[in-house]
Order: sequence, then C-alpha cells, then structure tokens
Amino acid sequence: MLSSIVSFNNASKAFAGFGKAKGNLVNAVDSVTLDIEEDSITGVIGYSGAGKSTLVRLINALELPTSGSVVVDGKDLTTLNQKQLRELRSQIGMIFQQFNLFNSRSVAKNVEYPLRVAGWPKEKREARVKELLEFVGIAEKARQYPSQLSGGQKQRVGIARALATSPKILLADEATSALDPETTSEVLNLLKKVNRELGTTIVVITHEMHVVRSICDQVAVMEKGKLLEAGPVYNVFAFAQEDATKRFINSTIQDKPSADTVRRLQQAHSGTIVTVTVSEDAAAGNGTQQRDISEIFRTQPDVHSAVVYGSITEIAQRPYGSLTYVLSGPDASVTALIAKLKTVTAVEEWPASNGNEAQL
Ligand code: ADP
Repeated sequence: MLSSIVSFNNASKAFAGFGKAKGNLVNAVDSVTLDIEEDSITGVIGYSGAGKSTLVRLINALELPTSGSVVVDGKDLTTLNQKQLRELRSQIGMIFQQFNLFNSRSVAKNVEYPLRVAGWPKEKREARVKELLEFVGIAEKARQYPSQLSGGQKQRVGIARALATSPKILLADEATSALDPETTSEVLNLLKKVNRELGTTIVVITHEMHVVRSICDQVAVMEKGKLLEAGPVYNVFAFAQEDATKRFINSTIQDKPSADTVRRLQQAHSGTIVTVTVSEDAAAGNGTQQRDISEIFRTQPDVHSAVVYGSITEIAQRPYGSLTYVLSGPDASVTALIAKLKTVTAVEEWPASNGNEAQL
C-alpha cells in the first residue's frame, strides 16, 4: 500500500509583501493540501513566483507554515523543537541549480562535509565518500576541485553530498536548469537510479516539462501559491483541466498547429481540417484509444484522410500528442467520421478560413 512521507494539510505560508505589495501579506503558499508518496519522484511545476520553492522549503522546515500543517515522516513540523528540527533536516538532502559546492575544497572534501557535521569517525567517512563517488560515477575526480569539473560533474558531487547521510527525502531545486540537454539526461538518469536503488523519495522543482516527463511519477501544478492539480503524471498531463497546466504542456510539446499554421494548411489543402488528440485510455492503460481511432477511419472508406501536422511523444512512458488531418469526401461522410471520432477522443475542428483571422 502507498503511504505518504510528506503531507501538506491546508498549509499556507504568508510573507510580508514588498514593493507594490508593501504592508500586505503575500501568500507564497496558499492553502495547499497534498500528499507526497514514499519512494516516489514528484515534480512541482509552475511559473516563476508560483510558490514552488516555498512549498519545498516547508518540507525541510526552512520555512514553517503560517497556518495549516506540514507532516514529514509522521512528524508535524510545527510541534518540533530546534533539536528535533535539526534531526529531521539530516533526513532531507537538497541539491541546487548552482550546485552550491565549496570551491576551496576538493570533491572528496565536499562530499565528506555533511559526515563531519554529523560526527562520523574518519575511517567511516573515507569509506562512505568512496562509495558515494562510485555511486554517482565520478570516483576518479575525488582529488579535483569544483572549478575543474563540468556542470554535470558538479551536480554529481552535489548529489553525492546530499546523499551522504542516507536521507529519506531528496529535494532538487531546478537541479538541471543550468545544464545542457545531454548532461540534463545523465543527471536525470542518476536521480532515477537514486530513487530506484536507494528508495529515496525525490521532490523535483522544475519549470522544464521534459524533466517531469522523463522521471516523475507524480506531478503537482502550482500557480499564485495555489495547488491547481496533482496526481500521476500521465493523468494530469493527458487530461489537463487547468489552463496553466495546458500552457505548460504546450510550451514543449508543440503538437497542435498555431492559427497561422492552420491558415496555411487551409490554403494548401481542400477539405476539412481537424486535430485529433492521441492519448492512452487511462483506465485501460493499453493504448486502446489509438486502435479505436484507426478502426474508425476504416469505417468511412469514402473519406480520404491525410496527416498534415502533429506529433506523438511519450509522457511517463505512455503515448501523448495529437495529429491534424485533412479530411476530404462527401460532406455527410466527413461529418459522420468526425462524430464517431468524438466518441473515443477529443477532436478540434478548424473552421474554414474566410480570409480573416482563423477562429480558434
Ligand atoms: P517559485 O519558486 O515558484 O518561483 P517562490 O516560492 O520563490 O516561487 O515565491 C512565491 C512568492 O512568494 C513570490 O511572490 C515571492 O516574491 C514570495 N516570496 C518568497 N520568499 C519570500 C520571502 N522570504 N519574503 C517575501 N516574499 C517572498
């Protein structure tokens, strides 16, 4: 059975506003109720200022809620004294966009630091540092200094350091945002390994859709301090309810034609243009919908169809995207085909261009 390792119960964090908001309280996190499952990788997404960092800082008690409660590993953080808070924080590792390494210390000394703070004896520290550097794949860099490492290697040191005391939870604040795409994939694979092999629960703050797509099991979407929607990644993205979620998806998966593209397609082709969403039937979980779509096309052999735009990609290893078709044939048959498609998926119809702006 799944159990939650972090629970936000109607939790809010208000700050005194500054600038235009001076004199008011700003709810950086506003009445959030959310469970983070043990052993999961959860993405927290949203635009800058949405409250993501504050939400995550509530987990390691760098901030305490101004109302509601945050329960971590069974403990209500508002009830803990300083000593208990320190103990709890030692169970939570953190990695950062800018790595936050000590530049004047070697790789090994950076990783050793939290072990020193925790009072480990020298021999145990050395063995642990060696084991950690091997785990993250940079054992040969132990004696080098951060300035001699690439961004990806620096983040590996950051991960090794964060894991030194075997925390139950790892918080990653935009941990791949400063890295190029290839290095990002390597670091994401390492985070997946941490989760799968060590059982560490990981919470990833990100503004990058592909981070969520490639490693997260769960996702929480935030806007203006509020939690808009949360749940398994595929369900939240493939069946997005909120505009902010849809905008976020469209920022990277450009499977739908823009108004300009639709106009060009209409000029280039005669026929009816429709965009058909391709997703997996979430309940069946077996790609039923894709089969249904092709079968429906076969039931109207007098309609000719051609794919003119679109893409299908994967979210959480399941298909997601849309295809735009030009349909030509007798009007009644085209209308019947569209009606049948609508019984299995979402279909957007693009009204014929009248020379003005396309109506979207
Ligand atoms: P995100 O991580 O999504 O960019 P943040 O959690 O950093 O969002 O910020 C959410 C809101 O709370 C912003 O409006 C920000 O200005 C405000 N905020 C965050 N931290 C503080 C603080 N220490 N004092 C005052 N306002 C803050």
